[in-house]
Amino acid sequence: MTDIPYKIYLEENEMPTSWYNLRADMKNKPAPLLNPGTGKPMTAEELGAVFCDELVAQELDETTPYIEIPEEIRKFYKMYRPSPLVRAYCLEEKLKTPAKIYYKFEGNNTSGSHKLNSAIAQAYYAKKQGLKGVTTETGAGQWGTALSMACAYLGLDCRVYMVKVSYEQKPFRREVMRTYGASVTPSPSMNTEVGRKILAEFPGTTGSLGCAISEAVEDATSHEGYRYVLGSVLNQVLLHQTVIGLETKIAMEKYGIKPDIIIGCAGGGSNLGGLISPFMGEKLRGEADYRIIAVEPASCPSFTRGVFAYDFCDTGMICPLAKMYTIGSSYIPAPNHAGGLRFHGMSPILSQLYHDGLMEAISVNQTDVFAAAEYFARCEGILPAPESSHAIKAAIDEALRCKETGEEKTILFGLTGTGYFDMVAYEKFHDGNMTNYIPTDDELAASIAKLPKTAE
Ligand SMILES: *Cc1c(COP(=O)(O)O)cnc(C)c1O
Repeated sequence: MTDIPYKIYLEENEMPTSWYNLRADMKNKPAPLLNPGTGKPMTAEELGAVFCDELVAQELDETTPYIEIPEEIRKFYKMYRPSPLVRAYCLEEKLKTPAKIYYKFEGNNTSGSHKLNSAIAQAYYAKKQGLKGVTTETGAGQWGTALSMACAYLGLDCRVYMVKVSYEQKPFRREVMRTYGASVTPSPSMNTEVGRKILAEFPGTTGSLGCAISEAVEDATSHEGYRYVLGSVLNQVLLHQTVIGLETKIAMEKYGIKPDIIIGCAGGGSNLGGLISPFMGEKLRGEADYRIIAVEPASCPSFTRGVFAYDFCDTGMICPLAKMYTIGSSYIPAPNHAGGLRFHGMSPILSQLYHDGLMEAISVNQTDVFAAAEYFARCEGILPAPESSHAIKAAIDEALRCKETGEEKTILFGLTGTGYFDMVAYEKFHDGNMTNYIPTDDELAASIAKLPKTAE
């Protein structure tokens, strides 16, 4: 064995003090968000009706390379960061691969995922603006939990619209959020006009993420002192998540390590974007080269089978249009889809990079994802979130390829969180009741045909 420790931590004084804004180094900038009514780029003023002012500024800033992390956020980060960069010695040994595998583990906080990195930033700017509170939606629950933790810390009101089916299936998630003082409403609800309308039309509906977004936005815009916040996709969220990649890079440089391959799961793209940003920056500036792989579920394949076009971010079609890889906002993953990452689109930043050939994408089947999750849990000890396990699956496959060729590549992947609240999905897998659903070309074409018509 080498002298690389199992876990590489950073000293407090080595931690990043700024987020890195990758857009500053992108020649082809991501396309602007468009107002769905006028088809014109969203102005700061328009965005300010929904989002906090400082976050709007970050959303629109494509020139400032480094944006200082406010002292208060750095203090909060210190409670659960740096997150460990782990050398997966046990996994390497079990795979008998010459590859060196590292993972950055973001599951060491109560929310169980990387989402807290952006939640605390968004709550901080809301507080700084003198707001009373924020609203949001949550599907699986990690984002809602992260946001309630951040709001509790700062003394902000937090209103979470939780997709009804998750609300009923994941009562423990709900109670964690309530422990942190959030109010959690199953969506669709009678609280909002859009919720009442949907309930009248579909009385038995168990809800959807798109519907919960519409309710959260309406709640924020109809109450004085509230704004809406979102846990992925947006440029600002990727910016906050760069703390993952910056810490990783500092930790690796301490030991003279350079990754050859960087892998991350991709739902809306925030963890992957955060992990790769500093490395991609070097690649864009011609200082280094890396192979970067996004991993998505075969049942929701926006990169690998979608189109690069303007689309709505929500099923309710009230949010701004984003130019991204999308399989259409009306696409709803099959009910047997248990592995998360169910957003129909992808971060505009990552979409542009992928379009420009700067990164690759693959899709994987959910039974293979859970098999990889179990394999990983049994040798590395950590019970991974199904989302994270997409990256595990791809990292194992790359390591096995190295075994065939004898190449000693260094593989880095993002382990975004833990899977304690996903035991129903694990149970399905163990009982042999998990199936794979791969949409047909016709299904995708039907949903892509409903994309909004824009000038482009
Ligand atoms: C939300 C989440 C993801 C996917 O979101 P991205 O924005 O694509 O990072 C991945 N892993 C975990 C554990 C999550 O909670």
